[in-house]
Amino acid sequence: MPQTVEKHPKGTRARVLLSSVFGPYAQDDKFGSRAINPMELYHNQVTRAQGPFSLRMFHRSWGIMMIQANISAPCAVLDFPTREAFANELTSNDYDVVGISSIIVNVAKVREMCRLVRERSPRSVIIVGGHVTAIPGIEKLVDADHYVRGEGISWMRRYLGEDDSSPIRHPQIVSGLKTRSLGMTLPERRGSTAATVIPSVGCPMGCNFCTTSSFFGGKGKFHNFYETGDELFDLMEGFESSMKVQTFFIMDENFLLHRPRAMRLLDRMKAAGKSWGMAVFASANAIRKYSMKELVELGVSWIWMGLESAQSHYTKLQGTDTLELTRELRSHGIRVQGSTIIGLEHHTPDNIQDEIERAIRHDADFHQFMLYTPVPGTPLYSEMKQQGRLLDVDLADIHGQHKFNFQHAAISREDSKRLLDWAFLRDFEQNGPSLYRICRTMLEGWKRYRDYPDPRVRERFAREMTKLRSGYNASLWAMERQLRETSASVSARIQSLRAEVEKEFGFTAWCNARAIGPLLLWTTRREQRRLARGKTYEPPTFLERTNWLPA
Ligand code: SF4
Repeated sequence: MPQTVEKHPKGTRARVLLSSVFGPYAQDDKFGSRAINPMELYHNQVTRAQGPFSLRMFHRSWGIMMIQANISAPCAVLDFPTREAFANELTSNDYDVVGISSIIVNVAKVREMCRLVRERSPRSVIIVGGHVTAIPGIEKLVDADHYVRGEGISWMRRYLGEDDSSPIRHPQIVSGLKTRSLGMTLPERRGSTAATVIPSVGCPMGCNFCTTSSFFGGKGKFHNFYETGDELFDLMEGFESSMKVQTFFIMDENFLLHRPRAMRLLDRMKAAGKSWGMAVFASANAIRKYSMKELVELGVSWIWMGLESAQSHYTKLQGTDTLELTRELRSHGIRVQGSTIIGLEHHTPDNIQDEIERAIRHDADFHQFMLYTPVPGTPLYSEMKQQGRLLDVDLADIHGQHKFNFQHAAISREDSKRLLDWAFLRDFEQNGPSLYRICRTMLEGWKRYRDYPDPRVRERFAREMTKLRSGYNASLWAMERQLRETSASVSARIQSLRAEVEKEFGFTAWCNARAIGPLLLWTTRREQRRLARGKTYEPPTFLERTNWLPA
């Protein structure tokens, strides 16, 4: 049932500001920023122990971008503002509505932003949306007029008196910004970065710890923005032409679970000869609905998959050997991003080390480690609350990358941090930089599919090889040398992969490595020194207006 919404008196004439929370983010401060929790998804929770090899990038606040694209009221999106920029925007323009989107850790920023709105723009209606609204008693913590839980586009449309059943207009979203590794920020050429596509929100699997699933209705529930493969195909073809992209970051918690939609998309891609590539999120049971042939033909080149733990009882993992599945996916050129949970109920000081070692044996291209964390709004949170096991932890520290926020039966809070840090380090020591791992998977895919009968598939792998023989091979050259002293066995593996790439692609790859590699080695070492001095990165501020009329 949609939430009942009292309409704004000005309807679509209301002037709307939609903002994400203010930065800087990568520092410890009284507003809940944490140095350990920067605004960089990968560096924050996936490659954080990989030093200068870490993959660093920013992602825009897609929720407010989606809302902006789907209302006809004059609207400004302010993304990653400073506190001052947000305050100034409130007085530079006369806003009827101010919407603030946030996750739970940033609740203190939301409180401060509401205070600023009341002070500087007292007649504005304040709407708070996003995961922060799952905090029990949020109404007492921040001073807003409306709290929107779940999908926000239709709520905002109803609030402004618009038709909430109109088709979704998807904004053009470049998936990553300021991508950086080895001390170099990649140039942002049009079409060089994947376009983000958001087919659905929520996930019906309803794992007990999953905030996204809970936020959009929990077990059995999800919300499709695009119901059919035909709709998705048309959207992606539009982006191919307007954004000049051939790769897509499919931001759907469990894209492959909706098989009829994915298979119809594949039919359309085949009919139109599209060699698109896709990065997707999918649970093991959803991946198992497809043959490797279907995944490869669909263009799936990267999968984020929850591995959690072999001893866990999540339905999505039943009957799947994730070690075997990861190996199989990689042998077909599909990069795997695994995700492992530390501190599940069955973990003890006696078994946790073996569990982490097993996770690392997946040798996934990327590996996220997360603490088992009861986050407000999830079934796990309710369960822990009922059992009286929640600890009194600042909401800013409940993000799964620091220490437990609950009383674990066998592992202490201090040990949770030690184990988490060790897992990241051990994965890096054993498996090397993720950048090296993806090169290895790409080469495996190429060797398997370069002569594949479907020209779309050959074309996609050939496109990937233009990167491998140039910039990526130069990266291998630099990584190999940088790790020679500290990690001889990883360095030797990188060297052997580089030799294979150069055997495959000959003089061009050889030249690229020697021409660009030394520069990358130099930037890598410079980055290492910078990081040692405490260098952090912040996203740029965006201000984008639509349907704008002079006040
Ligand atoms: S399968 Fe993944 S996205 Fe779905 S509920 Fe479980 S953890 Fe969340």
